[in-house]
Amino acid sequence: MVDFSYAIDPVYIATIFFFIVGLQRMSHPLTARSGIVWAGAAMLIATLATFLTPDLTNFTLMAIAIVIGGGFGYIAAKRVAMTDMPQMIALYNGMGGGAAAGISAVALLGTTATASFAVIGGLIGAISFAGSLIAFLKLQGWMGPRPITFLGQHVVNMTVLALAIISGVLVVWQPSRIPLTVAMYLPLFFVLSLGFGFLMTLPIGGADMPVVISMYNAFTGLAVALDGFSFATPNYAMVVAGIIVGAAGSLLTLQMARAMNRSISNVFFGAFGATEEKGMQIQGSMKSIGADDVAVMLAYANKVIIAPGYGMAVAQAQQKVKELTDLLESKNVQVKFAIHPVAGRMPGHMNVLLAEAGVAYDHLFDRDEVNPEFPSTDVVLVIGANDVVNPAAHRQGSPLFGMPILDVDQAKDVIVLKRGQGKGFAGIENDLFYRDNTRMLYGDAQESVGKLVQALKKL
Ligand code: NDP
Repeated sequence: MVDFSYAIDPVYIATIFFFIVGLQRMSHPLTARSGIVWAGAAMLIATLATFLTPDLTNFTLMAIAIVIGGGFGYIAAKRVAMTDMPQMIALYNGMGGGAAAGISAVALLGTTATASFAVIGGLIGAISFAGSLIAFLKLQGWMGPRPITFLGQHVVNMTVLALAIISGVLVVWQPSRIPLTVAMYLPLFFVLSLGFGFLMTLPIGGADMPVVISMYNAFTGLAVALDGFSFATPNYAMVVAGIIVGAAGSLLTLQMARAMNRSISNVFFGAFGATEEKGMQIQGSMKSIGADDVAVMLAYANKVIIAPGYGMAVAQAQQKVKELTDLLESKNVQVKFAIHPVAGRMPGHMNVLLAEAGVAYDHLFDRDEVNPEFPSTDVVLVIGANDVVNPAAHRQGSPLFGMPILDVDQAKDVIVLKRGQGKGFAGIENDLFYRDNTRMLYGDAQESVGKLVQALKKL
C-alpha cells in the first residue's frame, strides 16, 4: 500500500491554521458563522488525516464510527431549538471529554504512551464527561435545576478526588508498566474520576450553570491536549486544538464568573440558589396593563430601553422587536437594548437573536454601559427576562445576592412582558414585578410585541 504518512504533519499544520482563523472569526457576531465553518472544516480534515496513519487496519470500524457520530450530530444540530442549545453544548462537550478519557484508557493499556500525560488527560476528560452529563440533565429539565446538597458533601467529594488521584498514580508507577497490573487499577481510576465529576456538579445549579458549562468545555480541551502529548509521537493537531479550546474555555469561564460576580471556587462550593430567601415577604401586587396603554406610554417617551431575556428567545419575538424599534425611532423615540451577559441560555444568546433580526450593533449596550442610563429612561420594556432584572440580587440573604443585574427598576416606568407568574431559571421570586412603577403585559412575547406594533401604528 502507498505510504502517505509524510502528509500527516503538513495537513495537521493546515488544520491548526484553520482552527485559529475559525476562532478569531468567532469573536465577532458578523463573522461568527464563517468561523464555525472554518473550524468545522479543520475538524473534518484532521479526522480524515487520521486514515493516513501508518499500520492502521481498522478502517471499517473508524468509518462506521464517523458515520454514526457525524450523522447523529448533523440531525441533532438541525433539529435543536435555539433555546435548547446549552444542553446540546453540554452533551457534545461531555462526549469530547468521554472521547479524551477513552483515548487515555487505550493509551494506558499499551506500553508506549507517556503514562503521566495519559492519566491526567483521563482524569480531566472523565470529570468533564460525567459533569457535563449532569449539566445536560439539569438543563434539559430531566433533573431539577436546583443544587443537590448533603451533609459532609465537600469531604466526600475531596475524598473521591484524592482516591482517584492515588489510583492514577498507581497506574503510572507500575514497575515496567506491566499491562495486567495497569489493568487492575485502571477501572478503579476511571470509576473514581467519573464519580468525582458527578459529585462535583450535583451542588451546582440555578444561575451558575453557564459558568459550569464553559468550565467543562475548558476541561475537555485540556484533556485532549494532554492526550495529544501522551502518544509516543505527539499528535500536534490534538495538542493545539485542545490548547485553543482549553484557553478559550478558561477565558469564557472567567468572564462568565465575573459577569455573575462569583469566584470559581464559590461556583463549585457555594451551592448558589440552594434555597429561597428565608422569611422574605414581597409587598404589593402585580398590576396588569393592556397593549394599547403601553403603546401610548412608548409613543410619548423620549427614551425607551428594551431588556430582552430567555422568554424573547422562546417566543421568537426578535423580528417583532426589531419592527417595534423601527416604529419607535420613526416617532423620534430613542431606543436602546440592555444586554445582560447571561440573559437567555447561552453566552451571546441575545446578541445572536437581535443580529439575526437586523438590530444594529450600536443599539446594544452591556450592563455596565447601560445601568447608569436607567434613571433617565422613561420606559423599560422587559421582554421575557426575569433573573437578570431581579432586584433580589441587591439584597443580602437572597440566593441571588451579589449577581450583577440590569437595574431596570430605576426607570420611570417598567413594563414586563411575560406569559404569567412563571419564575426565572434560578427559581427565585422577583419583586420587580410587584413594584409601584411596574406593569405586567401578559402573553406570549411575540404576540404582545405584535399588539404593541399594531397599537402604535394606529396612534
Ligand atoms: P429567565 O430564565 O430568568 O426568565 C425567563 C422568563 O421568560 C420566565 O420568567 C418566563 O415567565 C418568561 N417566558 C418564557 N417563555 C415566554 C414567552 N413565550 N413569552 C414571554 N415570556 C416568556 O431568563 P433571563 O434571560 O432573565 O435569565 C437567564 C437565566 O438563565 C439566568 O439565571 C442564567 O444564569 C441562566 N442561564 C444562562 C445561560 C447563558 O449562558 N446565558 C446558560 C444557562 C443558564 P413566564 O413563564 O411567566 O412566561
